[in-house]
Amino acid sequence: MSNSAALNLPQVLVLGGGFGGVQAAMELARTKKFRVSLISERSFLHLFPTSIWIPTRGIRTDQTRVPLTAIAKANDFTLVNGAVAGIDAATNTVQTSAGNLSYDYLVIAMGSGKMKPPGVENSESLCTGPQAAVTLREQLDALIAAGTGRIAVGFGGNPKDPSAVRGGPAFEFLFNVDHLLRRTGLREAFELTFFAPMEQPGIRMGKKAYESLGPELGKRGIARQVGVPIARFSAEGVEFADGNVLPADLVMFIPAGTGHPVLTGSGLATTEAGFLDIDSGCLVAGTTNVYAVGDSAAMAGPDWRAKQGHMAEVMGRVAAHNIAYDHEGRSERESYLDHVTLVCLMDVGNGANLVYRTSRREGIIPLPVVGHWAKRAWGWYAGATKLRRFPRMPGL
Ligand SMILES: Cc1cc2nc3c(=O)[nH]c(=O)nc-3n(C[C@H](O)[C@H](O)[C@H](O)COP(=O)(O)OP(=O)(O)OC[C@H]3O[C@@H](n4cnc5c(N)ncnc54)[C@H](O)[C@@H]3O)c2cc1C
Repeated sequence: MSNSAALNLPQVLVLGGGFGGVQAAMELARTKKFRVSLISERSFLHLFPTSIWIPTRGIRTDQTRVPLTAIAKANDFTLVNGAVAGIDAATNTVQTSAGNLSYDYLVIAMGSGKMKPPGVENSESLCTGPQAAVTLREQLDALIAAGTGRIAVGFGGNPKDPSAVRGGPAFEFLFNVDHLLRRTGLREAFELTFFAPMEQPGIRMGKKAYESLGPELGKRGIARQVGVPIARFSAEGVEFADGNVLPADLVMFIPAGTGHPVLTGSGLATTEAGFLDIDSGCLVAGTTNVYAVGDSAAMAGPDWRAKQGHMAEVMGRVAAHNIAYDHEGRSERESYLDHVTLVCLMDVGNGANLVYRTSRREGIIPLPVVGHWAKRAWGWYAGATKLRRFPRMPGL
């Protein structure tokens, strides 16, 4: 039965076409028990993990984009191109630029909002979306053409939710810029500095991975400025709360996550940090039919938990299965908490380090050369599995 023909089935709206939303829509469509519509302001799934190479020209933008029309067609769900403007949980409706839509079940997967330190417009971020990666590429090209420059790269934290920090891509960007400058013979003419407000940036990856970061930065001649809150960004660079200024021609800054702006006024329960308050089955507190997954939701679990793409997919799958159980009147529920892990193939330009952390163990495995190509292969695999051109391997 095609999705469009299944008019009498309950309607599920999935808001957001990132890793969490796509996974939820695919799983829900597979059950053939729902009409599934995914609403996305973007026409493609953006593969954030491989987008780190866009600024250094290691990958083309089209290689990091999987068209949502093709994903929807391959998985038999409906795609609605539009921006969500509001959610009214009391009337089970969503306001979008494509009109008002009603739902029987709702999955919120719109990612997070971003914390904005004063003057943040003087920086650029890989995390604000695909266009930012292209802007960074242009800025980097201009500095390379000039033959010299000062580049500062860092990330911020959210004191109300430590899981809303995103440091991995900052290190990857920095190592890739260093690698590019060495290849072009310009490294000596550039100053690279890593900055972060916390005392131990990267510690949530585990002690071993954290302790390897210092030497990794040191051997590349990358300076460090950590442990002092960021006061503001300006045309001069980064200003810290102690009055110090880090002069920079280019600042790549990854802001900490906070609640998505559309949630304001929705009547849905959020945590102090602004994320949707969910139970272990991704059901939003105080509701019976609204689920939240990925970066939009407040994750529970160990204090090193991190909002990552694979966790968004786990949560998307858990939410989809629990919606199906609820619809069938079954009492069993799945929990995302059983699957909380931290995994990152941290690219360094000519290799990668596999960083992992579970409740039992943590570690870092250096993978010279092969790690870099494994991450590239993952990009192809991620797209191919969403398009059902390649089977999904367990755990990957
Ligand atoms: C540069 C970078 C590198 C990363 N590398 C890794 C990695 O190596 N491994 C890893 O596990 N994780 C990585 N992450 C983290 C991972 O990408 C995120 O955790 C993941 O994307 C979260 O998925 P999500 O579906 O919750 O949100 P998102 O991916 O942010 O998707 C949200 C979607 O909702 C859409 N949306 C937002 N607002 C609206 C609206 N109002 N109306 C309609 N649509 C809307 C957005 O356009 C987007 O498509 C990386 C992140 C970045 C930024």
